[in-house]
Amino acid sequence: MTTVFEPAPHTFAPTSDGRQFPVRRVFCVGRNYAAHAREMGRDPDREAPFFFTKWAETVVCDGAVIPYPPQTGNFHYEAELVVAIGKGGTNIAQEGALDYVWGYATGNDLTRRDLQLTAREAGRPWDSGKNVEASAPLGLIHPVDEVGHLSAGAIRLLVNEVIKQDADLADLIWSVPEVISILSTLWTLQPGDLIFTGTPAGVGPIVTGDVVRVEIEGLTPLTVTVGPAA
Ligand code: MN
Repeated sequence: MTTVFEPAPHTFAPTSDGRQFPVRRVFCVGRNYAAHAREMGRDPDREAPFFFTKWAETVVCDGAVIPYPPQTGNFHYEAELVVAIGKGGTNIAQEGALDYVWGYATGNDLTRRDLQLTAREAGRPWDSGKNVEASAPLGLIHPVDEVGHLSAGAIRLLVNEVIKQDADLADLIWSVPEVISILSTLWTLQPGDLIFTGTPAGVGPIVTGDVVRVEIEGLTPLTVTVGPAA
């Protein structure tokens, strides 16, 4: 096969068993913790879950330096539990949904908040706020065989060692099986898909030089540094 140019490299994410997880697509859940929905000016009780996506190539690994992205003055962190899908399926029942999970990781859904909110208020897509280069830092993926399924446990985010987000996975409005089930009615889930499950309250801005760490009980922490402008 003669290609017009060199194809882009596939995105891989390291696993705790020493292998590489081929990343296919990145799905993100919007507003999945009540206190965060309220801080964003929304009523958490009246909304079905909704989704947005990021390119697989936005995934970067632990230790990455994230260039401060262009066209924003309000770049935000969002600590999230990430589900790594190992088996494809459509219209997956909640009861068997966890069978589709290969593992779990810490994640950070980095966001150009000013662009996201402008788009939101105008009823426009969120891509310019959310689907940003290097905006999906991902920690080591731990297989279910090693850590089991995570439905409770502390989730925290620290900027320069100061705690900014401090919640519990048990506070998720839509649980992991519910998210997988609903998502699979909209798209056929594929092995390699990642699901960022939403962030708790306490989101805020980061600037060049900040060190941002996400901790989830039972998983390896994820640390990235914000670099100079891209
Ligand atoms: Mn998020």
